[in-house]
This record gives sequence, structure tokens and C-alpha cells, in this order.
Amino acid sequence: MPETVAGRVRDLGATLMHEHVFGLSPEILWNWPDVPEGWDLERRAGEAAARLESLKDHGIDTIVDLTVVGLGRFVPAVQRVAELTRVNIVAATGLYTYDALPPYFGNRGPGSLFGGPDRLAEFFVRDIAEGIGRTGVKAAILKCASDHLGMTAGCERVFRAVAEAHLETGAPISTHSHSASRGGLAQQELLASLGVDLTSVIIGHAGDSTDLGYLQDLLRNGSYLGMDRFGIETISSFESRVATVAALAERGHAGRMVLGHDSYCFNDRFDPDVVRRRHPNYHLLHISRDVLPELRRRGVTEEQIHQMLVGNPRTIFAGSAK
Ligand SMILES: [Zn+2]
Repeated sequence: MPETVAGRVRDLGATLMHEHVFGLSPEILWNWPDVPEGWDLERRAGEAAARLESLKDHGIDTIVDLTVVGLGRFVPAVQRVAELTRVNIVAATGLYTYDALPPYFGNRGPGSLFGGPDRLAEFFVRDIAEGIGRTGVKAAILKCASDHLGMTAGCERVFRAVAEAHLETGAPISTHSHSASRGGLAQQELLASLGVDLTSVIIGHAGDSTDLGYLQDLLRNGSYLGMDRFGIETISSFESRVATVAALAERGHAGRMVLGHDSYCFNDRFDPDVVRRRHPNYHLLHISRDVLPELRRRGVTEEQIHQMLVGNPRTIFAGSAK
């Protein structure tokens, strides 16, 4: 039975595998609480829950909230949202950086200023086994990132810690990858060298790519592809994203794709008006309203859609649900 923010559930149902509830900037909130995009927990929780309720009405039962340290994770607020919505929210642990580690971690660990043990894996395991902070909410998935800079020393430390926590807990791994530089392959290579079975890994943002050769290389190595930025059309258009999923489904890979928008219910780093103007489809309902009908029109079967939304997420979380 997979862990969610509201506790264990029997089945996750139709699941969007890469979303975010809140992206927050704690130091801004502490020091300039009156900025217009400022934080009011009850208000923001109510708004987020309303969005999720609408998602439920559009046939989605669960979102995986891949907000980890580095993105402003604040689980007490997500817990409040979970009280207000029927949608399951799966929490993540891990660390989000494209380059160096935050100094708290960067100054510690082997070869660093103060040396000592690398505590990243210990923190990640704690989030999964005991719960996050004092909330009792257990993380059910691990997140790590590398981007256009490649596998920097900081990123590599996160990947090593994520691999260690995965091997200890069985929690699956979801990455942020840079498709333009085929960055998923280096992620797979490193994780495999650390003993991770790549069938437990989702290469996130693979759906930014239209390079079927690259995507099939990732699939051949065993991982799931995160077709998870529907609506971010400045990186890849609706047409390209849908065509790529349809082409891979036609080649028999529906069993290895998962869907999402990488959206936020609220992110204080975003200007909501500009986001709406530039990315009118960047919202939680885009897949239900626009993407699935278009996939069906292109010959993707109900069975394949069910596989991507229900079957694959169920399999991915089965490993950690001991
Ligand atoms: Zn994301």
C-alpha cells in the first residue's frame, strides 16, 4: 500500500507522476512577508485544494509532488491541502540542484570544508522510513536532478545518496534531466554503476525530447520515461509532445511512459499572469482536457492510456510498498 501525505492508500488510481503543490522561498517569506505573492497557508491551501478537486472531477486520483529540498518543500502546508481534497498526494524526498550543493551539505561530507560523513542519504532514508520533519508524512519517491551543466560534483553526490537510499528503502527514483543534451543517459549510467535496477527509475522530462533514438536508448536501458511537461510549450510544442507519446505507444512502449505537467498549484517564483499568457496550457487539467483526447484521436488505445496513468504508477510504487 503506497504512502501518501494523508497516509497509506489501497490504490493510487489515475496518477500524474510529476507535479508540485507549492514552490516556496522560505528566506523571502521570513524577511519580506508582505510581498504580493506572499504566503498565507490557509488561503494557498484552499486554492490548491480547489485545483485538485477540479482535477479529481477530470478523472485523476493522485499527483506525485516532486517538490524536494531546493524547491521550497514545506510539507505541513501540503498536509493541510491533503485534508481539503480527495486527490492523493505522494510526497518526495531528495535534493534539487543543477550544480553545487547547498552549503549545509556542501560544507560537510568527505573532502569538504568540515569533512565527516555525507548525511544526504541519512536524511533521505529518514524521510521515507520515519517521516518528513515532525509531520509523520512519509516520502514515497526519491528525486535528483542534473541539467545543462551535466553531472557536476554536487549533482553526483545527490545521485549517490539517492541510490543509497533507494537500495535501503526500495523507494523509486524520479529525475530531472536535460533532454537537449541527452542527459538521461549519464543519469542511467551513474545509477546503474551504483547498483540501481533502472526499472525503478523514471527519467523525468524525457518528454521534452522528440529524438526517438535517444528515447529508445533510455527505454532499452530499462527506465520509465517522464512525459511530464505537457503545457510547457516553449520547450516543446503540444504537437511534438503528443506525437512523441503516440509514436512510442505505437512502437509498444506504453508500458514505460508516465504522464504529468510539472505544474505548481502555487509557486512564489512565478509571475502567474506571465505564466498564463506565455503558457496558456500549463495547468493541471491540460492532460485530461486536451492531451488524452488528442492521443486517442491518434490511435493510442484506452488500454495504453490506462497503462500510462494507472498501471505504470502502480508498478513503480509497488517496490516501495512493502
Ligand atoms: Zn518539477
